[in-house]
Amino acid sequence: KLSKRLQTVAAYVPQNAVVADIGSDHAYLPCYLVHQGIVQKAIAGEVVKGPYESACKEVRTEQLQDKITVRLADGMEAVEHEDGVTAVTIAGMGGPLIASILNKDLTRLQTVERLILQPNIHAMAIRVWAKQNGWKVIDEAILKEDRKIYEVLVLEHGTEDLTEAELLVGPYLMREKNDVFVEKWTGEVKQWQQILASIAEVEQTEAIQEKQKELHAKIAIVKDVLA
Ligand code: SAM
Repeated sequence: KLSKRLQTVAAYVPQNAVVADIGSDHAYLPCYLVHQGIVQKAIAGEVVKGPYESACKEVRTEQLQDKITVRLADGMEAVEHEDGVTAVTIAGMGGPLIASILNKDLTRLQTVERLILQPNIHAMAIRVWAKQNGWKVIDEAILKEDRKIYEVLVLEHGTEDLTEAELLVGPYLMREKNDVFVEKWTGEVKQWQQILASIAEVEQTEAIQEKQKELHAKIAIVKDVLA
């Protein structure tokens, strides 16, 4: 059974999309999308040989070779213009890595209408990238599974002006402010306060003072959001 995390990603894939799942590992997500009748055609991209082979094996086991193409490629290089990919999913990596994969070759996004991204940490890096590259957040989800908290960001073409707070915690998540969101950000504030307490003990260089300022600013933003 597909994890709740990947089911949440799948829920944002439009019916009949041509999807590319980058960093697909076992290709569980594209296999699920085809089995559910959500997509007819998918690409699973992997840059590492082991996971690439797992993906090939899973697609063969599920007898989906005619619908899912597995490619050994770095990031968006798995996508060719002729594929006509309309949706890209990237899940289970850090936000900065996801942003750098998208940013590496923007021409590969030409036919893409929607990005469904699931950063494990630092979702802000994706919102910053979106703002700088003509993408806008159209929906977000936050969920907890096996004691870990995950965010899902859905982007489409467009522009928007996000505040510092919205960039950090997410415009939709911030408005919904559900229990998982409150738990995540209460935990982050606690961690930042611990870091502040431990760096108060060390020599106060300029870099340390910068870090303190940054953490105080983030704590103030999040406390305001949670209030
Ligand atoms: N997407 C799956 C999921 O969410 O369960 C697998 C997540 S796994 C933690 C991350 C995968 O991304 C690894 O298999 C890794 O090899 C792959 N990966 C990392 N950087 C990549 C890149 N630049 N291009 C393609 N795949 C990449």
